[in-house]
Amino acid sequence: MSKPLSVLQFFKQFPDDDTCLEHLMTVRYGKDRKLACPKCEKASKFHKVSGRPVYSCQFCGHQISPMAGTPFHRSSTPLQKWFYAIYLFTTTRHGVPAKELQRQLSVTYKTAWRMGHEIRKYMADVDGDPPLSGHLEVDETYVGGKSQQVGRPSRKGNKTAVLGVIERDGKVMTKVVKNAGQKALIPPICATVEKGSTISSDELQAYKKLRDHGYIHGYVKHSGYQWTKGIHHTNTLEGYWARLKLSIRGTHIHVSRKYLPNYLAEFEYRYNMRTTPSLMFDRLLASF
Ligand SMILES: [Zn+2]
Repeated sequence: MSKPLSVLQFFKQFPDDDTCLEHLMTVRYGKDRKLACPKCEKASKFHKVSGRPVYSCQFCGHQISPMAGTPFHRSSTPLQKWFYAIYLFTTTRHGVPAKELQRQLSVTYKTAWRMGHEIRKYMADVDGDPPLSGHLEVDETYVGGKSQQVGRPSRKGNKTAVLGVIERDGKVMTKVVKNAGQKALIPPICATVEKGSTISSDELQAYKKLRDHGYIHGYVKHSGYQWTKGIHHTNTLEGYWARLKLSIRGTHIHVSRKYLPNYLAEFEYRYNMRTTPSLMFDRLLASF
């Protein structure tokens, strides 16, 4: 397993805005930075223009900005602060609340919130590379709503239904769904899981249709206190749900239905990249 940067290493590698810009250029255009100039169309090496965050073509002087198309471009927040925010997002276990970003970066709460929102959006974009295959577990859960912390809330109420599909020892895919009916659950499973895979679930009626869609399906009866039947159980996904809910409760207090997909994706990204945490940072930068 490759380790992520420590805070000290981070500041050694990115001591100022210029080194961040340089890194962004390398991540986007490769180490030797040879690219076809959009203007003169020659394979050109681009050089940094001093005092400005742009690079210019060695032949015609055409300028390109490595920040173009990224959320850094129109932001008045210095690039190094953005990098550090991304660093925090990719190294923290439970996500970064806006309050924490505000404190660590000395920016306003509004700016911190916006930065977090942008980073999460990109985490969502990089994520999700189906198909999943092998032996998987599927389950649905209910997230959000105000009653979450008090007593035993009703299973639904104002909560949002979320479907989860997880490979044993592999990747996970989660998705907000309308309800726990087969019309809502089966299509996203079919779009994510390779036919012929083995799927374990609980006794929910909808999942029994999985056989008709080319899967080997087995289930346990949670209502009958049956947690394992041969190779079938949903413990991997139950564990994932537990950590997700703990994280939402611990850091985000109240997640609205509108932003829930972003939080789900952020959590998913971190889980799916868990064996290569050092790659997270650059992959995220490259995705912009
Ligand atoms: Zn040129």
